[in-house]
Amino acid sequence: MKDSVDKLIFEIIAGAITLTLAVSLFATFYLGKINTNFLFGKNVSSKTNEAEISEMDSSNPEINIALRNKDWAEAEKLIEKKYGFPPKESNTAHILGLVIYNHALQIYSNNPSNSASLSSAVTRLETARALLISDNEAQKNITRALAGIGLTAYQNGSKVDGRKWAEEANQILNQEPYVNYVLGSIAVGEGRYIDAVPLLKISLNGEDKDIRASASALLSKIESDAKREEGFSTYSSSQFTIRFEGNPQPALSSRIIGILERQRSRVQEVIGHAPTGTIEVIVYTSPSFAVQRGLPDWVGALFDGRIRLSAVEVTESNDERLNKILGHELTHATIYDKLGRPGPAWLEEGLAQLITEGNSYSKTTLNNKIQSRNISLQSLGGNFTKMPQADAEAAYALSYATVLYLSHSHGGNIHIQILNELAEEKSIEEILIRVAGFGQQELGSKTKDWLTQ
Ligand SMILES: [Zn+2]
Repeated sequence: MKDSVDKLIFEIIAGAITLTLAVSLFATFYLGKINTNFLFGKNVSSKTNEAEISEMDSSNPEINIALRNKDWAEAEKLIEKKYGFPPKESNTAHILGLVIYNHALQIYSNNPSNSASLSSAVTRLETARALLISDNEAQKNITRALAGIGLTAYQNGSKVDGRKWAEEANQILNQEPYVNYVLGSIAVGEGRYIDAVPLLKISLNGEDKDIRASASALLSKIESDAKREEGFSTYSSSQFTIRFEGNPQPALSSRIIGILERQRSRVQEVIGHAPTGTIEVIVYTSPSFAVQRGLPDWVGALFDGRIRLSAVEVTESNDERLNKILGHELTHATIYDKLGRPGPAWLEEGLAQLITEGNSYSKTTLNNKIQSRNISLQSLGGNFTKMPQADAEAAYALSYATVLYLSHSHGGNIHIQILNELAEEKSIEEILIRVAGFGQQELGSKTKDWLTQ
């Protein structure tokens, strides 16, 4: 078959825009505030002012130097060495808690795209939280930081860890506006509007006007989506509901339903799961639904909890192409139904291509696409819509090649095994090491080697 990757259907699986906004809010507001208020600032308990720290460290000038230089790693090490862990004296324990907390933020901000540094930051946040248990202000900041790091991890593609951390933050501090904003944004991104609304409403109570503004923007988006869709014509089969913007189009609807029903068994065979509920498909007749959603114009169809398509795309596609578009989106919908959330992007996009393209690939073509751009598998956890089109094409090619390589090296059922374990909320790294014997980095390089063999 001719170059299959050229025929990719570009789409997303989570709302890139809202998540990016939330991450940047975290970085500019909370991270900034937390850092400047720390230790030498006014908002921290009076026990942690500079004079007191100097006094504490009068016998150890090295600690003072580390604190003044904001060398939190060094300060953490020296304080633990001198006073033990946890320090017996409560004031010392409190200072160590703040040092570890700042160290966590530093680790995070130095390398926010590295999953190991996010985990290490979170571990430190937990330690700091235990040391600062009686400091309400610190508890609040730590909880927000946990949610913010969760969101970054989520956006980087560590969705299980990311969601877990944000949910932990919510358990520590119920009703905290920023934490609810993070959870609400994730829910919007996943198309879980019903879950998102109450979370975003809580975030409207926050002190930061930018977070209030962006929460209310998300709420209006949800409302206007719902309003627009009220007037759509609806067609249903036992497994699918199709809604059309504008005039009723029964012929087009039967065509879509017919194809989806045929694709269903192929998807089930590869994913090892059939959707349990009805899958909604929304067909837009207005010029570009992707642009309306703030997506690049190369996005032709998407799944964000529902399959969204352009009517023009559907009308202009022959059956072969429409089979691919719908098979691709149905793969995302089926994985979502199985996991209750999207899977890692490379796995999602790789499986969608395996389902629509099968084994009719050319190693050379895939390799050329991948080699034309400098991308790594670990960087492909999030979604591809923020990429320029050429990078996105390389990302889809690497995703497809990786899934093909896994079938080649471990047999076709490995994907089902991975998905089954993802459903148990394990991380993709942990699962790969167990079922394949190596993590994502090695998988990426083995895949690239295999393409050149
Ligand atoms: Zn896709």
